[in-house]
Amino acid sequence: MSESKRQAALVTGASRGIGRAIAVALAGQGWAVAINYQSNAAAAGDTLAQVRAAGGTGAVIQADIAGAADRERLLRETLAHFGRLDLLVNNAGMAPRQRIDMLQMSEASYDEVMAVNLKGPFFLTQAAARIMIDLRAAGTIDTPMIVNIGSMSAYTSSTSRAEYCLSKAGMGMMTALYADRLAEYGINVYEVRPGIIDTDMTSAAKSRYDKRIAEGLAPIARWGQPEDVGRAVAAIAAGALPFSTGEVINVDGGIHLQRL
Ligand code: NAP
Repeated sequence: MSESKRQAALVTGASRGIGRAIAVALAGQGWAVAINYQSNAAAAGDTLAQVRAAGGTGAVIQADIAGAADRERLLRETLAHFGRLDLLVNNAGMAPRQRIDMLQMSEASYDEVMAVNLKGPFFLTQAAARIMIDLRAAGTIDTPMIVNIGSMSAYTSSTSRAEYCLSKAGMGMMTALYADRLAEYGINVYEVRPGIIDTDMTSAAKSRYDKRIAEGLAPIARWGQPEDVGRAVAAIAAGALPFSTGEVINVDGGIHLQRL
């Protein structure tokens, strides 16, 4: 496929875990993928190799999404590589450095987590949306989309990582706001809400989650894999939901169901 014909996606935090699986799933559909990472260049390079092996093409771009100048450069370099931006996937995120009871949580931890998980994605989306509006008006792209990777923590209280829960609850409203604002420009916005997924982020709590899953936490009694999330994003990106926007797709083995 010629480069200009390939649709181009920017996936933040694509060096590892869920972001990598999203990048590879998109590549399997022929996408060009801007693989963003913060500090792990080697892992980002591995993602690029997997993207190419899957049939896509890609470029690795370092940027801290918490920083305004980095966000601006990230978009500029994405456009320099691919000449278009059809899809933004706001995936990069962090857990608090320490799980601490919310009665002891520091303002520094609150600020850091909110900057990476909510403020950064909000302003990256604002800038990307402006670009998409212009590219669509120019006829360069047809059906731009934005996918936010939220979390079951948007509605599940974890009192030892309150800042994370707040950031993901905020992302739920961010999805609604951008879906509302961007519909008139033909830009649909979705949120994919993972449950418990086997990545570096959850590795510290592995034995605890093993136990909870064995005890029946989720109707589908297994760990989620990054590829489960990748598939959901790829289905959205393929245009499976053209008359839906602001929609939340739970990829959680059914954890969100209220059960008696
Ligand atoms: P992960 O394995 O810890 O990977 C995090 C990714 O985000 C890495 O690629 C990392 O880059 C990147 N990143 C972190 N901070 C960044 C920053 N400031 N700027 C740019 N990139 C940054 O995490 P994951 O489990 O795949 O999670 C991905 C997303 O899914 C997050 O938003 C997370 O909150 C959400 N989520 C995860 C789960 C789960 O169970 N794992 C459940 C629900 C939601 P480097 O490699 O350079 O560090």
